[in-house]
Amino acid sequence: MQIFSHVSAGFEGFLIQVEVFIRRGIPAVDIVGLPDGAVREAKERIRVAILQSGFQFPSGRILINLAPADIRKEGASFDLSLALSVLSASGQINDMLPGGSSWLVLGELELSGRIRAVKGTLPAVAAALKDGVSNILVPPENLPEAQAAGRGNIYSLDHLQNLSKLKNTIQADSPNAPMDKIADPDNLPDLKDLKGQAYLKRALMVAAAGGHHMLLFGPPGSGKTLAANCLEGLLPPLASETSHEVSRIWSQAGKLGRGKGMITRPPFRTPHHSATMEGLIGGGVQIQPGEISLAHGGVLFLDETPEFQGRILQSLREPLENGKVTIVRAGQSYWYPSRFQLVMAANPCPCGNLGKPEAVCICSHNEIQRYWKKVGGALMDRIDIRIPVEPVSPEVLLNDQPLASAELRVSVVEASDRQAFRYKEENFRRNRDIPVGKLGEYCFIRENLQAYFTKMARFLGLSSRACHSVLKVARTIADLSGHDDISQEDLEEAGQYRRYGDSNFFWN
Ligand SMILES: [Zn+2]
Repeated sequence: MQIFSHVSAGFEGFLIQVEVFIRRGIPAVDIVGLPDGAVREAKERIRVAILQSGFQFPSGRILINLAPADIRKEGASFDLSLALSVLSASGQINDMLPGGSSWLVLGELELSGRIRAVKGTLPAVAAALKDGVSNILVPPENLPEAQAAGRGNIYSLDHLQNLSKLKNTIQADSPNAPMDKIADPDNLPDLKDLKGQAYLKRALMVAAAGGHHMLLFGPPGSGKTLAANCLEGLLPPLASETSHEVSRIWSQAGKLGRGKGMITRPPFRTPHHSATMEGLIGGGVQIQPGEISLAHGGVLFLDETPEFQGRILQSLREPLENGKVTIVRAGQSYWYPSRFQLVMAANPCPCGNLGKPEAVCICSHNEIQRYWKKVGGALMDRIDIRIPVEPVSPEVLLNDQPLASAELRVSVVEASDRQAFRYKEENFRRNRDIPVGKLGEYCFIRENLQAYFTKMARFLGLSSRACHSVLKVARTIADLSGHDDISQEDLEEAGQYRRYGDSNFFWN
């Protein structure tokens, strides 16, 4: 019998074969093949757990080899694979494990023999199936995650003493059982609770439909944070490939939630401005995905953006450009996907009063410049949609009866489907990600509109990157109306979204 475990190295990982040799000699257990502290300690845990579960711990000298030897083995998820390898090598369980002779085994052991859930089940199962290891044994809490891989003979085990009662699980639960937290878009902050702000809501729909990065700026209490949080309920569901990537990242971070399968709704992450570089970008002693990777396929919302550390904001440039992040640790480099929609909210100035009716801003021109400089031109350049948010008048608060997010989401989903269909042969799916070289093809504007566009670009002082951004947003606006051609109104609306922020100009 061959027993495998799995180790993650960034988004990717390796199957690890566990081999056990028992020979006569002074009783001892040696683990070789670059085990870390937790794996070395496993020998004490598995000895007690094996005895507590009614098995014999073999006497003699036990050598456990983890192959390939040059990959570092981390964490407690190896426990169960080590225990089963020892039991198998001593001939105690060979009639208990049904099916074929190759097994992926995951689980942490308690001293009592009870088996605890582990991180990273989904990528481990995917790696095993890819390498032809089709018998999978996981802790019960990780079962839906293992089943989400869609194939294989999947077994679950709650206690080592129940090994003789293993049953192949019937995949009764849908393998795509979504997780609760982001499953139901109707339980999220809703635009029906945001009175007035028609311009802001329209911009949110455009951002949701095309995946465009967005900045909301305005005085405190104007509704920026509520508006940004409402974006989650407007987002279209994840495409199946992205859903798989997102679930895999969340599984590696141990955030999939017990008893939960695939993630089908886009994640919405809201890190606090006190977040560390490691928390946001990823890293750590046992390398973990950061917020930008947990937001893969969804939204990264930075409330009070200028309060974040400047170097953290600048480190967002690589993932925004490439859709992935590289983390170097101890001479090794690891990567995670991080293709997210960036949404930033900010006060217009340090005191917050700039642009607020009947209030006085006490900030100097220099202070305002310094404040925005922290966000930085390179980051601002990638923000397609910049929206000034103003407080709503009491009359509007009393009388407005806004549409609910669910109603608005219908056209967002249709616009998203149009993009998915148009880009089915491409390596991108959304208007945000149209490369410069394809703008002529996908954001074509008719000859009679070209003079209009040139005039508008001059009037707004748009750089060439800003022009590209306006074209992509206009494409999304046309998609929202179900049009194949970009119209003058689409261009005009897209131009309005780019009016602010290109020359430290944040309020007029
Ligand atoms: Zn001010």
